[in-house]
Amino acid sequence: MGTVVAADYLVVGAGAAGMAFTDALIDHADVRVVMVDRRHSVGGHWLDAYPFVRLHQASRFYGVASTLLGDGRVQQRGPEAGLHERATAPEICAYYGRVLRDRMVGSGRVEFYPGYEHVGDGRLVSRVSGKQIEVRARRVVDARYLAPLIPAEVPPPFEVDDGVSVLPVNALVDLGGAPSQVVVVGSGKTATDACIWLLENGVDPGAICWVRPREPWMLNRAVVQPDPAVFLTMAADTVEAARAATSADDLFLRLEDAGVMLRIDRSVTPTMAKTPTLAQWELDRLRTIENVVRLGHVRRVGPTRLALSGGEVRIAPDAVVVHCAAAGLRYSPLVPIWGRDAITLQPIRTGFPCFGAALAGFVEATIDGDEEKNRLCPPSPYSDTPTDWARMQVLGDRATTSFLSDPGIRAWAATVPLNPAAIPPGVPRSAELERALERLRASLRPGMARLAEIAGMA
Ligand SMILES: Cc1cc2nc3c(=O)[nH]c(=O)nc-3n(C[C@H](O)[C@H](O)[C@H](O)COP(=O)(O)OP(=O)(O)OC[C@H]3O[C@@H](n4cnc5c(N)ncnc54)[C@H](O)[C@@H]3O)c2cc1C
Repeated sequence: MGTVVAADYLVVGAGAAGMAFTDALIDHADVRVVMVDRRHSVGGHWLDAYPFVRLHQASRFYGVASTLLGDGRVQQRGPEAGLHERATAPEICAYYGRVLRDRMVGSGRVEFYPGYEHVGDGRLVSRVSGKQIEVRARRVVDARYLAPLIPAEVPPPFEVDDGVSVLPVNALVDLGGAPSQVVVVGSGKTATDACIWLLENGVDPGAICWVRPREPWMLNRAVVQPDPAVFLTMAADTVEAARAATSADDLFLRLEDAGVMLRIDRSVTPTMAKTPTLAQWELDRLRTIENVVRLGHVRRVGPTRLALSGGEVRIAPDAVVVHCAAAGLRYSPLVPIWGRDAITLQPIRTGFPCFGAALAGFVEATIDGDEEKNRLCPPSPYSDTPTDWARMQVLGDRATTSFLSDPGIRAWAATVPLNPAAIPPGVPRSAELERALERLRASLRPGMARLAEIAGMA
């Protein structure tokens, strides 16, 4: 048998979820934590992200509760001047490295085992040396339940003939030449980033073929900003649109009119609603790509053609096909966060996984009894379709009402930058903020009731 280590908690996964949970837990309880990750460091999927990725929303909403990611700066230059800074992958990984060193390991209460696989029952096996460690912990925290699926780790979901160049998006920066055509496969944030990166690097829009199996709705980044007046105005716009909506599609069209949602092609009704944020300048750039293939999912890539579920298209003999077709978000079923075998981290308020994991850490440290913790913090899902999006809003709103009913959580949540709806004590109540709050109060309940009907919920 290998080494035995005792701890109060074993946290499996040191990505955004595991880090936010552990940070809030040790800040509010005197406990010992063993954290493990099969990757070589903390940071989770960001360690294997494509080189040109950035957070899609403000840095302030991401990371751990105790330590701001970035310095809360508003961008002064470039196409996003006026919007809050968004960290790059190296910045995110460096930040998590500092949090690990200074706040976690430095506190003497966290031990981190990088490069170890948790194989079950508290048993860790090194992926380098084969060394085994047994962790005897009071509680296990599953911080990989919603770990995203990324192109660097998931092979393309289509067959590839010999002699065809298919690259994961990570390799796009190493093209090393200029093919006459680049075929981008995927409709989500990764594909969007790949197209923008190509265009920003001078590739002619006519040289890009974009295979979009589904059309995406995206959130307008300008309205998802860490400013209570801006964020709560967006929330008010959303519930007012919901209140009047007759269907999921009608809801999104209303949100588009209100400046909350964006779509690339206004002649097509999107069916996908994972809703990453997008800036207006990106939208303008994306609309310059005219060769868009909407024939469903790619089944096979041959030397001069793509076979898709809905037909075939010709591609250039020297085309490079870029795999941006991993699912990204994972749609595991909702389970109670405090379970018999593990604490399973999931979002609580709509979206914002870092806030959800930090909230779970705070609640674990400060509230007694799993039943009560689950009552206060039910999980909420990620969305894939417009109908899912309505359900996500309803469940996230119910969870928010629930956790805010506890005075201790309410006081904590008001001070945490990760909480997008926080109005920190002392923030001046501008007329814009008061107006947003008034509109929210008037439409929240009828809007949520309508969203529940749209989602087919009781
Ligand atoms: C490209 C991209 C951009 C994104 N941008 C944003 C954004 O801007 N804002 C936002 O809120 N969300 C964003 N997301 C959503 C994403 O879900 C969250 O950002 C978050 O990083 C997910 O963190 P996680 O800890 O759940 O998963 P991960 O980062 O994947 O961490 C889970 C960790 O668990 C480890 N692990 C798994 N199994 C084991 C095992 N058996 N033993 C040991 N270790 C194990 C894995 O190695 C991994 O490091 C983005 C996602 C992607 C793919």
